[in-house]
Amino acid sequence: MISVEEAIRRILEQIPRLGKERWPIPQSLGRVLAEDIIASRNIPPWNNSAMDGYAVRWEDIREASGKKPVELKVLADLPAGHVFKGGVGLGEAVRIMTGAPLPRGADTVVQVEDTEKSGPRVRILASLEKGKNIRLAGEDVQVGERILEEGTVIQPAHIGMLASLQRSFVSVYQCPRVAVLSTGDELLEIDDPWQEGKIVNSNSYTLAAQIADCGGHPLQLGIARDHPEDLSEKIQQGLVADLLVTSGGVSVGEYDLVKGMLKDLGKMNFWKVAMRPGQPLAFGMVFGKPLFGLPGNPVSAMVSFEQFVRPSILQMSGHRKLFRPTLKAVLREDIAKKADLTYFLRCRLMAKEGKTYATTTGEQGSGMLSSMVKAQGLIVLSREKSLVRAGEEVNVILLDPTLSYTSSPSYLSPSGPE
Ligand code: AMP
Ligand code: MG
Repeated sequence: MISVEEAIRRILEQIPRLGKERWPIPQSLGRVLAEDIIASRNIPPWNNSAMDGYAVRWEDIREASGKKPVELKVLADLPAGHVFKGGVGLGEAVRIMTGAPLPRGADTVVQVEDTEKSGPRVRILASLEKGKNIRLAGEDVQVGERILEEGTVIQPAHIGMLASLQRSFVSVYQCPRVAVLSTGDELLEIDDPWQEGKIVNSNSYTLAAQIADCGGHPLQLGIARDHPEDLSEKIQQGLVADLLVTSGGVSVGEYDLVKGMLKDLGKMNFWKVAMRPGQPLAFGMVFGKPLFGLPGNPVSAMVSFEQFVRPSILQMSGHRKLFRPTLKAVLREDIAKKADLTYFLRCRLMAKEGKTYATTTGEQGSGMLSSMVKAQGLIVLSREKSLVRAGEEVNVILLDPTLSYTSSPSYLSPSGPE
């Protein structure tokens, strides 16, 4: 048996990063940038006013006050978006709005509150530091600066920055199309009439959702019956995808044909991974495409996907950080386990007085999808342990990213976050 860490290492070693593609920036949200972005110009492009007021020469107004106002001649009214072609000389001012380019000769802006209009002239009622109320060219971004790095996961501010630099398209890594195939004679399609002895193929739905949840594009191949020809045909249809995921047929049952089939089609490893749930796992290449053969039990399929397929999809899409956040939680019950297997137990989490507590969702059978429905996280119990006691601290993989959200802005309350 190989360890979970070893399985992850062997898999990721073989998972390629996909190629690049160009997207309009609004569609690039959440994607991984495939190029460095170098600023093609200064932002702001020119010195401009940070206030509504008057652009002046500082030496004129350095001694201005309410008692001793300084009067200047107003040459023009300059709204944002317009340029004053002339210059500001001694004894002169230009009325200027926020964002308008600073006229030549002016070096300071007096905000309108410190002035008084008087016909074609303005009285300056206060002195201020030289250079005040001016945004300097390039103070936000300098031309030539590397403003975004390849590998960045694109967020709204990045898109705004790209727009400021007039980059309407950007290069990002492709996200994989992932073919999903469920195997088994016992499976019904979701809308098929109910039949005794059959169960609904739920795995195709859970897996497709897990794929989409990490940015992949699921491609449904439906159900392959437990016959070699059917399986082989469906898998070959799946080769249009970048990655294939099957469920069922990888354990030791008589009808577990996936194994035999895959041996013929490509280079396949069949591992017993030292974990529960999800011990059997097939991984390898069919015609150059990675394939994961996950176990059929719904919880095993989901947990194996979490450990092995999700990081693979993220790696293919250009991500460098492939694993979900974990936190430390205090266990609230004793758990006996088999030594030599890493356990992933479905749990609920509770925060109290600065500590997080974890309780299992109850029955942990690998066929019980309800345990995943209730789960906010997966308690990870390491291989070597055989008994973990209530009160011990354990690692928990956070499955629900909204878990630490709050219903009101708790950062504004005196007692701090919940
Ligand atoms: P297998 O790994 O093929 O032996 O499947 C193990 C068990 O998982 C089966 O007995 C089914 O109860 C269940 N199972 C297999 N495939 C699916 C599926 N696509 N959807 C829901 N349950 C499944
Ligand atoms: Mg089966």
